[in-house]
Amino acid sequence: MITTVVADGKNEYEFIDLLKKRAQNSDKNVVPIVSEIIENVAENGDKAVKEYTVKFDGKAPEKVEITSDEIDSLIEKCDKDYLETIKKAAANIADFHKRQVQQSWLTTKNNGVMMGQRIRGLKRVGIYVPGGTAAYPSSVLMNAVPAKIAGVEKIIMCTPPQKDGTPNPNIIAAAKVAGVDRIFLMGGAQAVAALAYGTESVPKVDKIVGPGNIFVATAKKLLYGTVDIDMIAGPSEILIIADKSANPKFLAADLMSQAEHDRLASAILLTDCEELAKETETELEKQMTALSRKDIIRSSVDNFGAVIVCSDMSQAIEFANELAPEHLEVCCENPMEYVGKLDNAGSVFLGNYSPEPLGDYFAGPNHVLPTSGTARFFSPLSVDSFVKKSSFIYYTEDALRKDAEDVVRFAETEGLTAHANSIKVRFDMK
Ligand code: NAD
Repeated sequence: MITTVVADGKNEYEFIDLLKKRAQNSDKNVVPIVSEIIENVAENGDKAVKEYTVKFDGKAPEKVEITSDEIDSLIEKCDKDYLETIKKAAANIADFHKRQVQQSWLTTKNNGVMMGQRIRGLKRVGIYVPGGTAAYPSSVLMNAVPAKIAGVEKIIMCTPPQKDGTPNPNIIAAAKVAGVDRIFLMGGAQAVAALAYGTESVPKVDKIVGPGNIFVATAKKLLYGTVDIDMIAGPSEILIIADKSANPKFLAADLMSQAEHDRLASAILLTDCEELAKETETELEKQMTALSRKDIIRSSVDNFGAVIVCSDMSQAIEFANELAPEHLEVCCENPMEYVGKLDNAGSVFLGNYSPEPLGDYFAGPNHVLPTSGTARFFSPLSVDSFVKKSSFIYYTEDALRKDAEDVVRFAETEGLTAHANSIKVRFDMK
């Protein structure tokens, strides 16, 4: 059972250590397997990808790339209401992310000097969409919509085929709605390697984003540098801060909405109200029995779940900032009072009617968030993740003459005489 702990400045911090270790444990044995897959794909391209698809996914598709006619006929198979829902979600996500767009800028000084920063979308981005044990069309929207808004020229998606070698229509529909340009049916480390190096069929990309299992995550880690990556997502986390005004039924449901992700997921409640803590635990047991993934939930709440009773809400805020959770719900009477005090969280959900799954699918902010305490220094996936910036400088002859002495002095102090010379030759300086 989820453990009730009274915060004493030690108990709760031991829990943070446990969560940190959970995230570190994961990939030692997988590295050699993934390294071999990457080398093979780098050397043998499509042939290697096909072999791994047969080995891990069951059946290789007839053609790895899905044509636009096939895309349209797959979308025909989708539920019409589902299609409407993903269009509405995509519009909300686009509306939120459009506000993140930064403009290139240029500044001029009165001596004719100009300088600025040019911002543009990456040329080609690869989006990995998991498809092994479940399909996640929401991942397609959360990755592709900001990339499109950033001005990425080509968005290339890879997703594993289903057991019969065909694509999942719901994922393909989301890709079309989000503006993905090309879709390849391949999964795992082989797909990540194909995107990073390029093969006969798959174009080489500049950045790979998107979640996946340990093989996908390890491939991204190993290929970072050859390509850019978004982040390495650890197990999912929810932390809820609640005061006596919260509803235990809602709290239990929200805790389990994250615990169901996998056995390493973590769900924690922090409250200053002991009665609410007890009621939430009772609710959790009651609701769990009816949920299809109750075995996973049971395991994650047993190992990485906790109900922590704090002396007051400021202790709860302090703990939340230390833990830096991926998702942070504030189920308190005046949730807006907390916004400015919560410094470390991927995404914050305010009030009793902003449950975390609303953000997973629909509201607009991105659901690709920093995990395992990295919200201390990482931010959610955004339009910024898909752009690059270059600065530029324009000096006139007069402007350079005015600054020449300072630049030469700086260069000579650093012992870089060729640097100094590049200024001196322009003005016959000694
Ligand atoms: P997946 O697409 O990530 O992995 C399937 C692929 O794994 C297969 O195509 C295969 O190539 C490879 N594979 C399987 N067994 C292998 C083996 N023994 N050796 C080498 N390669 C092997 O799909 P999945 O497995 O369902 O995992 C999806 C993951 O994505 C889950 O961990 C889920 O929690 C995570 N996820 C995270 C988010 C998020 O936002 N954080 C969102 C959606 C999904």
